[in-house]
Amino acid sequence: MAKYVYFFGDGKAEGRADMKNLLGGKGANLAEMSNLGLPVPPGFTITTEVCTYYYQNQRTHPAELKAQVEEALRNVENLSGKKFGHPENPLLFSVRSGARLSMPGMMETVLNIGLTSKTIPGLIRRTNNPRFVYDSYRRLISMYSDVVMEKAAGIETAEGKGVRVQLERLLEELKHKKKYKNDTDLTAEDLQDLTERMKKKVKDVLGKDFPDDGYEQLWGGIAAVFQSWNGKRAIAYRRIEGIPDDWGTAVNVQAMVFGNTGEHSATGVAFTRDPGNGENYFYGEWLINAQGEDVVAGIRTPFAVNIRSKQENNQQFPSLEEVMPETYRQLLDIRQKLETHYRDMQDIEFTIEEGKLWMLQTRSGKRNGIAATRMAVEMQREGLIPKEVAVSRVKPSQLDELLHPMVDPKTESVWHPIAKGLPAGPGGAMGKMVFTADLAEELGTKGEKVILVREETSPEDVHGMKPAQAILTAKGGMTSHAALVARGWGKCCIVGCGDLSIDMEKKIAHFGKKVLKEGDWITLNGTKGLIYEGQLPLVTIDPEHNEYYKQLLTWADEIRRLKVRTNADTPGDSAAAVKFGAEGIGLCRTEHMFFGERIWAMREMIMAEDLAGRKKALAKLLPMQRQDFYEIFQAMQHRPVTIRLLDPPLHEFVPHEPDTQKEMAARLGVSVETVKQKVESLHEFNPMLGHRGCRLGITYPEITEMQARAIFEAAAQCYAEGIKVLPEVMIPLTGTKVEFDHQKTIIDRVAREVMKEKGIKFNYLVGTMIEVPRAALVADKIAQTAEFFSYGTNDLTQMTYGFSRDDVGKFLYDYFEHKILPSDPFQTIDQEGVGQLIAMGVEKGRRARPDLKIGICGEHGGDPDSVKFCHRVGMDYVSCSPFRVPIARLAAAQAMIEEKKMK
Ligand code: ADP
Ligand code: MG
Ligand code: MG
Repeated sequence: MAKYVYFFGDGKAEGRADMKNLLGGKGANLAEMSNLGLPVPPGFTITTEVCTYYYQNQRTHPAELKAQVEEALRNVENLSGKKFGHPENPLLFSVRSGARLSMPGMMETVLNIGLTSKTIPGLIRRTNNPRFVYDSYRRLISMYSDVVMEKAAGIETAEGKGVRVQLERLLEELKHKKKYKNDTDLTAEDLQDLTERMKKKVKDVLGKDFPDDGYEQLWGGIAAVFQSWNGKRAIAYRRIEGIPDDWGTAVNVQAMVFGNTGEHSATGVAFTRDPGNGENYFYGEWLINAQGEDVVAGIRTPFAVNIRSKQENNQQFPSLEEVMPETYRQLLDIRQKLETHYRDMQDIEFTIEEGKLWMLQTRSGKRNGIAATRMAVEMQREGLIPKEVAVSRVKPSQLDELLHPMVDPKTESVWHPIAKGLPAGPGGAMGKMVFTADLAEELGTKGEKVILVREETSPEDVHGMKPAQAILTAKGGMTSHAALVARGWGKCCIVGCGDLSIDMEKKIAHFGKKVLKEGDWITLNGTKGLIYEGQLPLVTIDPEHNEYYKQLLTWADEIRRLKVRTNADTPGDSAAAVKFGAEGIGLCRTEHMFFGERIWAMREMIMAEDLAGRKKALAKLLPMQRQDFYEIFQAMQHRPVTIRLLDPPLHEFVPHEPDTQKEMAARLGVSVETVKQKVESLHEFNPMLGHRGCRLGITYPEITEMQARAIFEAAAQCYAEGIKVLPEVMIPLTGTKVEFDHQKTIIDRVAREVMKEKGIKFNYLVGTMIEVPRAALVADKIAQTAEFFSYGTNDLTQMTYGFSRDDVGKFLYDYFEHKILPSDPFQTIDQEGVGQLIAMGVEKGRRARPDLKIGICGEHGGDPDSVKFCHRVGMDYVSCSPFRVPIARLAAAQAMIEEKKMK
């Protein structure tokens, strides 16, 4: 018989941490914690297979499920000594959803299931605490009616019109009438009265009675979890994160423990290390007399778990360490156990009922790049993990954050912040304030810089949080929804900004006395929690000052096989890239060397009527290009430098407006008519497939000759000064061996001439871009004479797909919508198609020339997945923009580690 239900409790469990696919993340870890002997309230997990079954069988459960749930339920009753639905000693449950990965948009937890007119009186008699019982009941009504009766039932409501908001309004009105500040001020009578009115409201709004039967509540909750898997938000999130639809979710049903019975009870959330900067100390927040998500939802300002984690806004409140030292010590002990067991930073949820500690969740904690780097390195040093694990633990994209902008400290020191909040996600950001997730999404995806400003965020806002530069909320602590999501994405984020209030009607935000409109610019310092009006300059710090970053990349360098070069066209960029660890230049574009004042020599060449005229103009360009190369060689010292010969079509160098054409005519002493004619003659219907690349060098060999001379004379000069540079001359857009040979002959001849003239011998290579699909197909032929290949994957993708690089944006979004493409092939290599051409080219090329040097210089060279692909096909190096060099170094090391694991 298929097993659909897994039990946990009392130091034992049927599941384990590695059963996430079946039990979901939450269920697997509840089982693991039980097995570790940690205090976990007993319960059971209904597997993800039931969810899959549910959707494959017209939303029904497998027949065996009911009996298995009943059996597990009896087990929980036996362990807890209480009975579900019993009028004197009732057991209550929480129903919690749990996918493999935690997923916004999934059903929120429903607590206190089993409270009914039958069980309430008994529980009051037993606990002698009517306030606690009615507090639990009003929570059940509002959670259940919201997530089960409304959301899971597919009822769509306008913002502010949902049942939960309406129920919360009743609560607020009551507090207002009674002049209470906190929920905890409500008396038992208040709450009893409130629950009656809430139930009426539910009936009014949803047209249904709130269920007064425990089993109906329980099965309603279970079905709602499965239902939520196909909710709009959950589907949207899966699409953003690329999570398959058929994974399904598990359901956890667990005996309730209560943090809301009074002053000796509490609930909290903690991280075994600081998720903001990675420091090794216990970090967390808690609230006395509270339940469930109170801490996260920002109902009251949460207290710090210990003195060390106190922040500006909770300095005055007591920590758990001070109030319940014994329980705190137990929690510290559990922290230690969990870290040595999981060998990673954990994010935990706990509840204290009358002084007794209960663990409700553990999972590997989200962290930003700075924290991830520090934790990985320190855990290696502490002996928790080996170097390879440390290197694998930081996502290459997370390094981005270390290289990310922050508010310029000099400017900041003379500006006054308009408000202050909690520093939930580090770095700086600026943007226009927007107050709704929908607007953030609309503007953000258009490329506008926006900052999402909200009271607080919820899973419904995720679609607008992603495209926002940063997130700012009025409420919530360091473990609030906004903080967690931002941290996961490495986004700048400030939460709990007490001075902020938003007027959604008038579309204005008050920052204390300051009033700003939606659309006004603000700047955030997420590292310090400061908010500024206007646009402050952002700067990028030198990661070389971060010892953990340096250590991690040193390990990465020891591990990786793939070399990392950079794309750089100027001495400045080259020097910067060397600092980031570039081992050479993989692509030096020469076109910019024809712009600025030099464009006139270029135009003179284009206008020249004969070879002599062109040579005369090119002679003017020669010394300037030679100087460019000389300086780049100097910056790179002995490192290899790949220089690509002129690539763009000539029409890019001539003016197209009447005014500028007139200017050109005057300057070159020809008639405007002549200029016009020339410009028209250069016009092409399909310039990307036109007269460019080596095709230019074939029509005008004197251009190739001039560029080769500039390169070799610069090299000779460096040799004379003792710097043994290695120029690699690269011919663009080659499609046939004959094309290549035509150009190579010129280059080799010029090299011989320069060596002879200067009396200096130097090394150089002549190779080609592989960017026309034909070149990949005949790579073995081309490699007979080409000494290196560099994949130009931008053009290769363009020509393989037949997607114009410049126009693909118009329909790419539709392709994502309809799941025709999983990702932008210009960002991440299309391994299935373009990848075949690459692999074939490598294989054929090496067959003809075993020591053929092979690299990539398209945009993909800095994309982690593409870097790993380049490793797998056996390239020698990747080349990317200077800022992406560290990312590529890390990705290359991870590719090596993955390769070793496969063996
Ligand atoms: P999420 O996935 O949003 O973290 P959880 O299922 O962890 O949702 O539930 C949220 C909170 O509900 C928990 O942190 C805990 O405070 C409370 N909770 C869940 N189950 C129980 C329980 N059995 N007893 C007491 N509180 C619970
Ligand atoms: Mg939650
Ligand atoms: Mg949780």
